Amino acid sequence: MKVSYMETDVLIIGGGSAGSMAAIRLKELNRDQKVTIFEKANIKFSGSIPRGMDALNIVTVPGINTAEDYIEAQNIACEGVLDEAPSYVMAKRSWELMKELQSWGVFFPTDKAGNYEVLKTTPKGRFTVTMREPNLKTILHDRFTKLGCTVVNHTMALQLLVDNGHVAGAVGFNIRTGELIVCHAKAVILSAGGTARFGLPENGYLYGNYDCPANTGDAYSLAYRAGAELTGLEYTLRYYIVKDINCPLLYITLTRGAKLLNAIGEEVGGDHPGIKNMFDEHYDKGLGYLRIRMSHLPVEKIEAVEDILFSTEKPVLQRYFEGKGVNFRNRDIELGPTDMYLCGGHGITGVVVDTGAASTVPGLYAAGDSANVNRGHLTGAFVFGQLAAESATEYIKGISSRQCDPAPYIAEITEKCQVMEENQGFVSIEEFEYKTRRTITDYLTPPKNEYKLSRAVEIMREMKKALPRHVKVSRTHDLWKAFEVENIIDCAILSATASMERKESRWGYWHHRADYPKTDPAYTKLLIVKRGSCDDDVTTRLREPDKSISLKGGNQQ
Ligand SMILES: Cc1cc2nc3c(=O)[nH]c(=O)nc-3n(C[C@H](O)[C@H](O)[C@H](O)COP(=O)(O)OP(=O)(O)OC[C@H]3O[C@@H](n4cnc5c(N)ncnc54)[C@H](O)[C@@H]3O)c2cc1C
Repeated sequence: MKVSYMETDVLIIGGGSAGSMAAIRLKELNRDQKVTIFEKANIKFSGSIPRGMDALNIVTVPGINTAEDYIEAQNIACEGVLDEAPSYVMAKRSWELMKELQSWGVFFPTDKAGNYEVLKTTPKGRFTVTMREPNLKTILHDRFTKLGCTVVNHTMALQLLVDNGHVAGAVGFNIRTGELIVCHAKAVILSAGGTARFGLPENGYLYGNYDCPANTGDAYSLAYRAGAELTGLEYTLRYYIVKDINCPLLYITLTRGAKLLNAIGEEVGGDHPGIKNMFDEHYDKGLGYLRIRMSHLPVEKIEAVEDILFSTEKPVLQRYFEGKGVNFRNRDIELGPTDMYLCGGHGITGVVVDTGAASTVPGLYAAGDSANVNRGHLTGAFVFGQLAAESATEYIKGISSRQCDPAPYIAEITEKCQVMEENQGFVSIEEFEYKTRRTITDYLTPPKNEYKLSRAVEIMREMKKALPRHVKVSRTHDLWKAFEVENIIDCAILSATASMERKESRWGYWHHRADYPKTDPAYTKLLIVKRGSCDDDVTTRLREPDKSISLKGGNQQ
């Protein structure tokens, strides 16, 4: 394999929301520091916001709410399993972040009196500010491009380089040419999203999932192998949103007067129906599919929904509904369950970070859906992108260069590729991924139990061994897809192990154990997962969540 080398001050892995923001902040802090981004896709349109977004989900708007209110709401949503300090820092900086975005041209609409539209998307309080910005990613892209960051597109990070316990860069794989790129760095920021491709979506498409399909748990796998602590892997998310296309729509419509109905026409609870309620009380009782009705709304309200839906977040929805003949004025929108996935931004899965985005491994920072700033959404990605940049800038001040012998890493990757090429298996990587994710769906989808979870670990270990033997590799494309599937398998093993250790049910549907159906207060703790003596040695422990904000006299749960 051809290998090329580069050196940088800070390497960012993943140029989505968090990575883009980290790049901008690094250059704002010091124009002379070298910033390099490995991006698996093309950074201009990559990540969870390929173009625009319709809301900044967490903003502490002066006069409406405070960071203490946010911690109270999050404690309810996370049922107490929350490290408060990182979430508090995010909430504290959210207003300043919104103002900064505005100064860059991001549009947040106001009424005639100048008030922002602040919606309710958490069990308590209103923190979601409507944004109407179809070009959000372009705005970020233009900014870090002007500041002089180096972008290495179509490059998937495969391994973190670790030198005496310090992260010293990464090895990337060009997904088009198959070239390896060794990038030595004084610090690394992991912002490669969550495990979006995890369970199989019910629409049957490998890439028809809810979250950004480029995200295959690479960040979790990289951090785990480098020895960092992770948490929340047992929080297996599944939403209930627009059926077949798996796009979000609920809060945009319900907060504007739409009704949510079950299959027999009964109205389903208020402006925050809750996923648990939708699954437990309706779908699982045979009362699905739930439907959103807008036909009773004045035409201006429907147009307002269409305006947001078809212009900013998912313009493809316009073609989708037109193709299906669904006009909101006279037809309901069917909702259904999404695929199961792992995520820090919507859920609580991620690399454990402190208030400065530092992981437990020196030189490694994490932000966005890769980090466990619980349910931080886009605000979490942006604020922790900035924080990671600030911390990394400080950290590298005393380091002249960080070198690490890449030979063992290159040898390991080359050997894996050789084995796959020489074996010339008989299963396409797409079929192998399908089988992996179908098994994840079978054995990890709640309700969970000890038997299914232990089988999940067993089968996933077998799949990991079978992958290089059975997958047919005929081009570079097949190789990096195989690396992605390997990461999905790693995440399944970590998730099943964590799910086995949490011997209780919590977070409604998302961690429902049929063999431990009750919530046990002894488990109001973070379940930490860490690599032991080798990759297969997954160690777990429970740790008390940080409650420093509540204890300081913030609002109690
Ligand atoms: C459909 C949808 C709607 C949403 N709506 C809202 C909303 O209205 N408001 C809100 O606040 N939040 C919303 N969110 C959440 C928010 O968008 C995400 O939490 C946030 O954008 C995540 O940012 P990120 O940088 O962590 O991940 P991403 O933006 O997904 O970026 C990850 C990047 O890493 C790259 N990558 C992956 N693996 C590798 C690798 N090995 N090497 C190199 N690169 C890699 C990917 O290609 C991608 O570009 C929504 C999310 C989704 C999916």
